[in-house]
Amino acid sequence: MSHANRGVVYMGPGKVEVQPIPFPELALGKRKCEHGVILKVITTNICGSDQHMVRGRTTAPEGLVLGHEITGEVIECGRDVEFIQAGDIVSVPFNIACGRCRNCKEGRTGICLNVNPARPGAAYGYVDMGGWVGGQTEYVMVPYADFNLLRFPERDAAMDKIGDLTLLSDIFPTGYHGCVTAGVGPGSTVYIAGAGPVGLAAAVSAQLLGAACVIVGDMNADRLDQAASFGCETLDLRQDMPMADMLEPILGEREVDCAVDAVGFEARCHGHDHGHEQPAAVLNACMDITRAGGQIGIPGLYVTEDPGAGNEAARQGNLSMRLGQGWAKSHSFHTGQCPVMKYHRQLMQAILFERVDIARAVNVQVISLDEAPRGYADFDGGMARKFVIDPHSSVAA
Ligand code: NAD
Ligand code: ZN
Ligand code: ZN
Repeated sequence: MSHANRGVVYMGPGKVEVQPIPFPELALGKRKCEHGVILKVITTNICGSDQHMVRGRTTAPEGLVLGHEITGEVIECGRDVEFIQAGDIVSVPFNIACGRCRNCKEGRTGICLNVNPARPGAAYGYVDMGGWVGGQTEYVMVPYADFNLLRFPERDAAMDKIGDLTLLSDIFPTGYHGCVTAGVGPGSTVYIAGAGPVGLAAAVSAQLLGAACVIVGDMNADRLDQAASFGCETLDLRQDMPMADMLEPILGEREVDCAVDAVGFEARCHGHDHGHEQPAAVLNACMDITRAGGQIGIPGLYVTEDPGAGNEAARQGNLSMRLGQGWAKSHSFHTGQCPVMKYHRQLMQAILFERVDIARAVNVQVISLDEAPRGYADFDGGMARKFVIDPHSSVAA
């Protein structure tokens, strides 16, 4: 089977283009992937993680085909695929996992040991993540298909809710994992740093987990309005005021039970200087305002090399973190890729049984593949939207 293919390609800082790319094969270089499938992509989302690369803040090489948030229809199965079939509509966890290594067996699919020669963990279309071709494309190959893929039970129901289900490949599980690792449960008070799509997904997740009060902080007024639209309290961090002073009128106290960092290393400082980058700003803020004994979930991404950083330490990923503050309060920290597979089935059910309106909360906007460069620019400009690419006009139809 052979078709033409096109994809979103990173062309250097600030630049992405839609270009012709090879049709996928059941292989990665010389490595055979008979356990893989070829997908016709139904939806594929633009992520803040992509923006780190496109802003030139990673060592991503030019020519990289982007995209790790993929939902599609199986059109071809490798010889060793047993249970997934052509015609299945599936969600692809952004983590690539073999299902055979020690970490996969423990459910820690974000740090699979067999899919990236350079380090544990892999993803589609991402720097340092094993060289797997990205899925902001018309067609893409997914390895270890029986293990990785989540099949949607019914095609029409899936297409009806595709704007929600497309978020299962990354941000909904990631936001949920941020909350789980922050210890959110019934009656918790929760601070979520960042009102981007991951922060908003974390806010929805906190509500789903039964939080008493969910407070979202950002410097972007439109994104804060988006958080308020589904019942969150908001902190406008452009204000020159200690965060505890902002919490007190909302909570009657100066600390929260749980905190989630949905910002990462491109964090900016609070107050009048809010345009300024300060990579540890969110980590330090979370330690300041989380109760002693509390947990801090850190889905926000931190890097080992940042060529665009303001100083030499940060170029090596060294941050000015006030760890003593967290130590004194016996905080727990949880970092790393979200192991999507741990959560995607339950969250799919929550969507299909209408327990949650995740697409509305993160403000999904469906665009064509040719509109992707524009989507990247608007998202980079801070638009309060989650852009979902529809490369075959299957959603539009
Ligand atoms: P985004 O860039 O759209 O959102 C980040 C938001 O943080 C922006 O609205 C920005 O204004 C805000 N911000 C900046 N400094 C802040 C501060 N000090 N306090 C509060 N808010 C601040 O990105 P996104 O798509 O929402 O992703 C968020 C982070 O999650 C990124 O770092 C991304 O790479 C990461 N991520 C991690 C995983 C994972 O598996 N761990 C998965 C997906 C995304
Ligand atoms: Zn993502
Ligand atoms: Zn593995």
